[in-house]
Parts: sequence; structure tokens; C-alpha cells
Amino acid sequence: MSHRIDDLNILCAFAHPDDEGFATGGTLAMLVDQGAHITLVCATNGDVGEISDPSLATPATLGQVRQEELRRAMAITGVQDIRFLNYRDSGMADTEDNQHPNALVQAKPTQVVGQLVAIMRETRPQVVITHDPTGGYGHPDHTTMCHQTTTAFRLAGDASTYPEYLSETQPAWAPSLLYYVCFPRSTFRRMWQSMLDRGVTPPFASKEIDVLGTPDDEVTTVLDVGRFVDTKIASLNCHRTQIDPNGPFSQLPEELTRDIMRTEYYTLIEPKAASKDADILATLAESARSGVNNIEGTS
Ligand SMILES: [Zn+2]
Repeated sequence: MSHRIDDLNILCAFAHPDDEGFATGGTLAMLVDQGAHITLVCATNGDVGEISDPSLATPATLGQVRQEELRRAMAITGVQDIRFLNYRDSGMADTEDNQHPNALVQAKPTQVVGQLVAIMRETRPQVVITHDPTGGYGHPDHTTMCHQTTTAFRLAGDASTYPEYLSETQPAWAPSLLYYVCFPRSTFRRMWQSMLDRGVTPPFASKEIDVLGTPDDEVTTVLDVGRFVDTKIASLNCHRTQIDPNGPFSQLPEELTRDIMRTEYYTLIEPKAASKDADILATLAESARSGVNNIEGTS
């Protein structure tokens, strides 16, 4: 496969507005800088998330407000194609919101997979990016999107599946690369230690710290997105309802937060045992660092 970067289509599939920010915001800005076309799928409207300031939203309006926050955030990053699947945020594990009939976790898997297959056949991405199976911190919507997106990745190229989403202009399409976004366990530990050091109560218990996030040895791809940290932070700051100035993450020293934000981590899931050259995200990040905006001959 040889292609110019301006032929590169990327599909990112996440659960909530703001999931694109902390772990992948630099990658998205880098991909835009490199000329890739990005489609961002947001499965829910984050309806049951926190409201940092009651003047910004009520529980009834939060979903709509968060859609708008995501649009503003992506305007800063330069991502123009946003698709909302309009499921309801399922809330944290074992809460009442899990049972809501519109909750993402209540949706038929084939329905969600079908929607993702349809978007893949329409936008023809070579690269698909989604949550990892840990969901970072185990949010049921994150793990759901990991599973359904992985299934859609494997089925979109099979014309015998989801024929209702096939047409002459929208034939079967098999994306080439599947990445999971990682939030490495060591990064959680680093933030946790920094909070303890400054007398801040971490939002996770000490017994969780050994199981939160992605095991470090599962990371295949480490991207230096330092050039894009300012864009990433400006974009993240659009998710105003989700930023609590008194929360534990806001108490971390800015230097540490910036340092954590300048590196983003992935596991390349498909193709398995890919050569280093086939790792498109790594290749593009390297080009972006050296100011080259065109690659060819990636196989
Ligand atoms: Zn989320």
C-alpha cells in the first residue's frame, strides 16, 4: 500500500465528548497537521457526567452542552467530521444509569456495530483508533466501544455482513490498522504519587493503582506530540463542564501535567506483529516532529 498523506483517512471511535482529549488530543492535532482526514465518532453525549459549574448546564441539558463543547474542542484541533450516535451515557459501572433503555450498554451490539460498519464503508479509513479493553479506568461505555469498534473493523470489509449498509457508492471496506488508545499504568501511578506528595486525595484508591490503566508492556507505540501540547490543552479546555478547578487533577503541578500530555500511547492491534514501518502513527509523528508533511511508501 502506497499512499500520500492527503489520502489518509482516520476513524476515531470513542464513548464520550472529551474522551478524545487527554490521551489522543496531541495525536489528532498531529494528524490534522500532517493532512489526514479525521472522522470522530462519539457514541454518547456524556449525559451523566459531572457538571463543574451549575451555570453551564443542568442534568437535563448536559448532553446538548457537551455536544457543543466537543464541536468547539474539535474546531481548535481542526477535526471537522464529528458523528454523534446519540446513545445515553451509561454512567460508571453498577450505577442505576446502566439500566436506562437508551444507555449505550443496553443497545444491541449488532446495532452499534452496524452503525460503525456503515461509517467505515462511507469514510473508508485506513486507520481506526478506539478505547482499549481496560477503558482506561473501566468505564463500561469505553469497554463497549472497544468491543463494538473492533468487531466493526473486522466485518466492514465483508460484503456478506450488514448488507443493508452496502451500496454502489458505499462498497465493503476493510481498514488496515487498528489501534487501541492506552493510558499506561505507570502514568496513573505517577499522577497518584504526585497527588499524595502534595496532600491531595487521589480519585482512586491505593488498591486500584496496580490495576488501573493499560499494562505498560502492552504499549507498542509511543508518540512524542510535544509540538501539539498547546493545541491539545486549548482543545481540552473547551470541555468546561468537565473541568473542576478544585478537583484532584487540577492540583497537579502544571509542569507534570504538561509533561504527561506530551506523550501519547497506543497498542497496534491489527495487523499483529506489524513491522516498525507499518506503524503509521509512529511514522507520522516522527514526520511531524521533523516538519515533513508528506510520507510515501508505507506498506
Ligand atoms: Zn469517557
